[in-house]
Parts: sequence; structure tokens; C-alpha cells
Amino acid sequence: MASLETASPALEVLRRVFGYDSFRGEQETIVEHVASGGDALVLMPTGGGKSLCYQIPALVRPGVGIVISPLIALMQDQVDALNALGVQAGFLNSSQDFEERRLTEAMYQAGELDLLYLAPERLRVPATLDLLDRGRIALFAIDEAHCVAQWGHDFRPDYLGLSELHERWPKVPRIALTATATKATHAEIASRLKLDDARHFVASFDRPNIQYRIVPKAEPKKQLLDLLRTEHKGDAGIVYCLSRSSVEKTAEFLVANGIDAVPYHAGLDSRTRAENQARFLREDGLIVVATIAFGMGIDKPDVRFVAHLDLPKSVEGYYQETGRAGRDGLPSTAWLAYGLQDVVQQRKLIDQSDGDDAHRRRQSQHLDAMLALCETVECRRVQLLAYFGQESTACGNCDTCLTPPESWDGTIAAQKLLSTIYRLQRERRQKFGAGQVIDILLGRKTAKVIQHDHDTLTVFGIGEELSESGWRGVARQLLAQGLLAVEGDYGTLVLTDASASVLRKERTVLLRREKVTKAAAKTAKKAAVELPAEAEPLFERLRAWRAATAKEQGVPAYVIFHDATLREIATSSPQTLEELGRVSGVGENKLAKYGQQVLDTLSG
Ligand code: ADP
Ligand code: ZN
Repeated sequence: MASLETASPALEVLRRVFGYDSFRGEQETIVEHVASGGDALVLMPTGGGKSLCYQIPALVRPGVGIVISPLIALMQDQVDALNALGVQAGFLNSSQDFEERRLTEAMYQAGELDLLYLAPERLRVPATLDLLDRGRIALFAIDEAHCVAQWGHDFRPDYLGLSELHERWPKVPRIALTATATKATHAEIASRLKLDDARHFVASFDRPNIQYRIVPKAEPKKQLLDLLRTEHKGDAGIVYCLSRSSVEKTAEFLVANGIDAVPYHAGLDSRTRAENQARFLREDGLIVVATIAFGMGIDKPDVRFVAHLDLPKSVEGYYQETGRAGRDGLPSTAWLAYGLQDVVQQRKLIDQSDGDDAHRRRQSQHLDAMLALCETVECRRVQLLAYFGQESTACGNCDTCLTPPESWDGTIAAQKLLSTIYRLQRERRQKFGAGQVIDILLGRKTAKVIQHDHDTLTVFGIGEELSESGWRGVARQLLAQGLLAVEGDYGTLVLTDASASVLRKERTVLLRREKVTKAAAKTAKKAAVELPAEAEPLFERLRAWRAATAKEQGVPAYVIFHDATLREIATSSPQTLEELGRVSGVGENKLAKYGQQVLDTLSG
């Protein structure tokens, strides 16, 4: 391989250690910049390839790369994955016993490590700082850097202390990385980490292999089951729910329907949590039903879908969570079911949250942006990327592109709903939520309607042209458009200043027509996942070999080889070690360690 001799040291490491041919996008510029001692702030979507941006400079520069990461539970896996590549990596966190810690510290001081992972709270301990002083530091990488931003959703107080790294070690380059990138977060990271001289790298945030879909919520668990059965049989995925109890119920529901699923939320004891996370990482095709406590830093490459059964609190959160799908670049689904109750509940949570008015206002802005994304009639991806300040054109791979929504003139429906609320509001004695309003519109003589004499109102029964779910859709869209608001503990619907113009017939209201479809009208582009028929038995044999090897070594299967690498091996069916070494993802160390076994597996 003559080309290796002329390659830069960074490219040489990329090829030899990681087994990849070339850098992606801005990786090369970032790596060269940091390797030559510059500071960098890197905004790149999940799956974009951030890790190499600090791992390669750490390998090229003399000394040890210090990686600050909040993800204690994942450090072991990260270190295992690096060790499998032949990289010397270690970590220091509270999960270790004394002996393990001492060993890692000794290796650090002796300069035997390439990379050392540290939890941010470690840096508050003077002993850690003294230890770092006794070795040579190649660079500081600050992973999940958005944790320093209070504007965002993952704020960690310990991150605020990281600005001191620069004061203590002014000559050591720093690289901060995150997949969260609104303008506000971006600016806050730069200023809080005092990255004054850093070069900023902002990659495109598009994840073209993820198909975004947002559907009206009817029976969410059944809708989910339908999605899994029709499009994601046997696939690994994450299902997000807002509350612990809905996590539990949803996981039970899936299991009862023969689907392999485990729960994950902060209320479970730490052993169960660790066990469920480990199973998700190690097994093929397991589903985790979780609160947002789950997922940061999970770099399982073959998560095929992320489903939300409740509305996320912000577009940033939604984007991070859905970004966990399809890191391997293969087609994946981001699916969200959302309904009127979500809006009512989120508004309530904001009203009740502690913190000052500014905090509540910020949360409200986050929610409004999320609602705008849900109700858009335009391409979801265009709207998502616009939220991160990036322009794009209609993607052809989201629900609104695939099945453009129709709109209808909902002015009269809006007037009916708003005037019903107006009449209830005039009573003042008691507050009513959407349920009562809709019962009145539909002319239902329920006990509660009769008790309050609501069947004598002039609006009683004036809305029989729509179904109950139709009216819920109208109310939800009016809420999203600010023509209606919710208030108080019971989710009372109240008029806004803007409602008056609708009631006075001064404006028309355009609404989105909704069909509660079962799964998607059109399925994701599956083509890229499918192997040529003749390669399938080989792929299955390789997978079985990988599962056995991973089990034997106690590491996740993808630490051995990624799916994408196994696919390429199965398709190209290499006959020699040299041929195998040319497959993307097969580096020097893995070739030496597994090469012969892979060839034996191929020849059956
Ligand atoms: P991020 O941390 O940005 O989410 P990762 O660093 O985990 O992304 O990279 C995502 C995937 O892309 C990983 O499987 C990684 O091995 C792969 N990858 C990264 N850079 C390259 C490259 N230059 N060539 C091929 N694969 C790459
Ligand atoms: Zn689109």
C-alpha cells in the first residue's frame, strides 16, 4: 500500500487503527487543527463522527488525551471499543474500586495511555488535578459540551468548572463537541468554556437516513404496536414516554404482545437500570421503553427506530432523542404520536415548575417551537433544520413530503369551539377541560352535562358534523396556533386575545386535515438494509460468530464489528486477509485478532 507512505500522520492512523479509507466532511480539518494545537468547538449531529475528531489528534500528539464525559455508565463500553482497536484507553470514575483506579493512574503517569476518560465531577477533586499534572496531556476533549448550557435541557453544574482547565493548562488544546446546536446553545458553550480563540466547526445537521413522522395520537400503544409489527419486526429501538408509570405500562404491553422490551427510568434501582441498558447494547433487536433519563451517549449504531408516545419538551430534546436512531447510516424511523392531552399536560407542567418567570418563559418558547414542528404542513426536515439555523429544501423522506397534508377551512368549527368555551368561561363558578367542551358540542347528555345544565346552552349539540377525535384535533391545533390556551391544574381551556378576532369573524382559520392512519402510508426506504439474496446466509453466519465472540469477551456485538462492516464482508466475500483488510471498519488490530476467524466463518 504505497499511498500510506505519503499520507499525513492523521490519515495514516485513520486507516491503520480504525480501518477507514478517508475522513468524512470536516473531520480532516478538525483533526489537523487540533493535532497542531488549536482549540475547536464542534457541532455535529449524532452519528456524524465526532469521536474521531478527538481520538485521532490524541493518538497523533504526544501525551494522553483527556476526555471529559458525563456518561459514567458508558465509559467501560467506550474503553472496550477502543481497546478492541488496539488503542490504550482507560477511565476514572466512581464505579471503580481502589485497585482499578490505582492501576489506571499508574498507567497515566507512565505515559502508557492514549486516552483517559474522566467524569466532570472528578475535576473538582484536587487529587485528580495533581494526578493530571504528573503526566503529559495531549488535549482536553469536552464531550456533550451542551451540558454547560443552561438554555438547553441537559445542564450539569459540574460542567461550569471546566473553564478552569484553560487557566491551569493554557498550552493544552481543547476541543468541545456536541450534537445540540441552536444559536443560543452554541454561543453559551463558547462563552462558558471560555473558548475565545477556538475555531468553530458547524456541520450540517441533516440526518438523511432518518424518516421523521408525526401522527395524531389515538390509541398510542396500539399505534406503536402496529408500527413495530409492520415496519420494525425484530429491530432494536427506543420508545420514549413522559412518565415512569407509562414507561412501565408500555413495556408490559409490548411484552404481553410478544415483543422483547425492557423498561428504563430513574425510579428503577441502579442495578436493574444498568442491566437493562447493558442488554440493550449487547443484544440484537431489544426495545427499551424509557423516560428521557435514557440515551445520552448511547452509541449503539443499529438502533432502527425511536418512537415518542408523548410530546417532547423541546425541539432540541426531540432532535437529540431521535438522533439516536440510525447512527450506522442505514434507514431508520423517528415516529411521534401527539395529541391534545400532550399540550394540556405540558402547559400544566410549565405552570407548576419551580424556577423564575424567565425560566418558565424559556420553557414556553421551547414548547411552542415543538408544537410548530408537529403542526407544520411543510417538510419536517426543513423545519427542524431551520430551527438549528440551517436552510434546506423539501427532503422527500418525511411524512409531510411523502403524504402532503391537506388543509381545510376550519373557521366555523373554530368559532363553535371558542364560543362554547366563552359560555363556560362566563359561568366562572367552575372550570372545564376539553372533555366537557366536546361533550357539549356533540350534544351528549352525560351526568356532568346535566348536572351543570349545559344541555340548555345554545351551543349544545351544534358540533355534530365532527367526531370526538375531530374536535380534539381542532382544539389541539387552535392551541398550537395560540387561538386558545390552557390554564390551571385541570387543563381548563380559556380564550386568548387572539381568540376574539376569530369569534368576531375577522379572520379565517386553516386547519390540517387528519386521518388517523394505522402505520405509515409509505414505508421507509428499506433498500439499503437489504442484502443481495446470496449474501444473506453469509451475513447470518457472521452475525452468529460475532454474537458468540462478543459474549465470550463480555462486550457489545458492535465492538467486534458494526453491522455495516459485516454487510460489506458478506457482500464482497473476501478470500484472503489482505482482501478482508480493505473492508471499511477492519483496522490493523481487528484484522490480526479476528481476521482468520472471519475467513473460516465465510468458508463455513
Ligand atoms: P458521533 O459521536 O458524532 O455520534 P461517532 O463518532 O460515534 O458519531 O461516529 C458514528 C459512526 O460513524 C461510527 O460507527 C464511526 O465508526 C463511523 N465513522 C466515523 N468517522 C468515519 C469515517 N471517516 N469513515 C467511516 N466511518 C466513520
Ligand atoms: Zn420532508
